[in-house]
Amino acid sequence: MSVELILLALSPIFWLCIGYEFIKYRARYDIKDSLANTALAIMHQGADALSLLLLMPLFYWLFEHRLFDIELSLLSVICAFLLQDFLYYWFHRASHNVHWLWAAHVVHHSSTRMNFSTAFRQSLMYPVAGMWLFWTPMMLLGFDPNVVLIVVACNLAFQFFVHTEIIGKLGWLEKLFNTPSHHRVHHAINPGYIDRNFAGVLILWDKLFGTFVEEDLNKPCRYGIIGQIDTYNPVVISFHQWLHMFRQALRAKSLAKGARVLFSYPTSSVPTETVTVAEKNAKQLPAID
Ligand SMILES: [Zn+2]
Ligand SMILES: [Zn+2]
Repeated sequence: MSVELILLALSPIFWLCIGYEFIKYRARYDIKDSLANTALAIMHQGADALSLLLLMPLFYWLFEHRLFDIELSLLSVICAFLLQDFLYYWFHRASHNVHWLWAAHVVHHSSTRMNFSTAFRQSLMYPVAGMWLFWTPMMLLGFDPNVVLIVVACNLAFQFFVHTEIIGKLGWLEKLFNTPSHHRVHHAINPGYIDRNFAGVLILWDKLFGTFVEEDLNKPCRYGIIGQIDTYNPVVISFHQWLHMFRQALRAKSLAKGARVLFSYPTSSVPTETVTVAEKNAKQLPAID
């Protein structure tokens, strides 16, 4: 439960930031959008807490079969933080490239706004998609499951602060950390910005693995997804891509093609005729069938 408790303890700070941004930059908010984000956060936290009840025995089983005995120290916690941030980068990159993971992650990208409340926009389906699988190597290596969950929570908490348009560039911090500027690029669908800047805390991973793009402040970011869904209903937001994916898989003419739908590059849940030419140019969607 450590993840939920840490995020809950930090929630007054989150709400203060949202309140400040809302009052000072009212035009950046759409109340319906922010209410949907809040509902999605509550659904996500509930699903996460429930799934942890089931997953903790597995995490402890992995920890019992660990490769190394890692003593709790400042150094080991720093190592856990760095390793989890590295794994987060690959989880996030996979979430944009594997339809099964995108079906959950698309929720976070499906707002056309970018403000602090966008950070709340999360999917309750992450436990089903298998986000937790990415942390299991840490327990096998010898990191205590509670330490792993605490660094996961810290990583997520950090990411709250990168969801804003009111902070420009942050000097030397831009070189090392994921910043609002880097994360605006991640949420944008401008040509050249799609599937870039997957970092959680350290932007170094993107620079190392060739997915980094610098924000051009002269070109305003356009946020959302290719084939924007037009709804504030948190249930529809949570499940539209899953429905689309399974419908596509069931229509496939063989088991192999069905599996390809689930695990290849995702396609939009909105029919392509409603996708504008500009969006098509922004992202060439590969055909599945
Ligand atoms: Zn993403
Ligand atoms: Zn984000």
